[in-house]
Amino acid sequence: MRLRNIKGSREIIGASDYVIHDMEHCPGRWQEIFGNANPIHIEIGMGKGKFLLELAKRNPGINYVGIEKYSSVLLRAIEKQREEELPNLYFLRMEAEHINQVFAREEVQRIYLNFSDPWPKDRHAKRRLTSREFLARYQEILEKNGSVEFKTDNRELFDFSLEAREEAGWKLLAWTYDLHGDEELLKENVMTEYEERFCAQGNPIHKYIICR
Ligand code: SAH
Repeated sequence: MRLRNIKGSREIIGASDYVIHDMEHCPGRWQEIFGNANPIHIEIGMGKGKFLLELAKRNPGINYVGIEKYSSVLLRAIEKQREEELPNLYFLRMEAEHINQVFAREEVQRIYLNFSDPWPKDRHAKRRLTSREFLARYQEILEKNGSVEFKTDNRELFDFSLEAREEAGWKLLAWTYDLHGDEELLKENVMTEYEERFCAQGNPIHKYIICR
């Protein structure tokens, strides 16, 4: 993601009703925040939010939370949500490492990871959002049958993620090295910003769905 320092983005985010600010009060309170008991699906590393806005529009019976660490990127999602005003979509500006500080045990039904940063150096493997370290964090906040859906065009990251899944003892529900050649998995597919870009370049998209 190209980073520009957009002037005033922190101020705009600070004033947005679509961003949850008092994060320490979030765990166990999401039903109250959304005003209903619908399932909660989150995307970690949401970028400009295209994917989640589309899902939230399609599925009014599911509550979505988008997590992004950079204000300059999150700003774009807020701008779109200002136009749409979807009642089932909120954002958090935070580092995913602290995910357990905003969701209580088993409060989340599904986690989406789309085109996560690859962190190619071995010594940074723990920072990959599909590492065993992150799966352990997800394990706590996910419901019993909760799942993680991951898409990437990075083969090394995908193979690493398949291995980390096995080591962590999660079930592999579905996987493909070529999502756009897989009729079954493609049916419900919503394209992300990065996916559109990489598909246009002819890169195959890899996807897995895993379950704790
Ligand atoms: N999911 C979007 C964007 C992919 S780029 C898409 O598919 O189009 C990856 C995004 O994840 C970037 O916006 C980056 O800032 C964010 N990100 C990466 N690591 C993160 C972390 N540890 N916590 C929160 N956001 C993160």
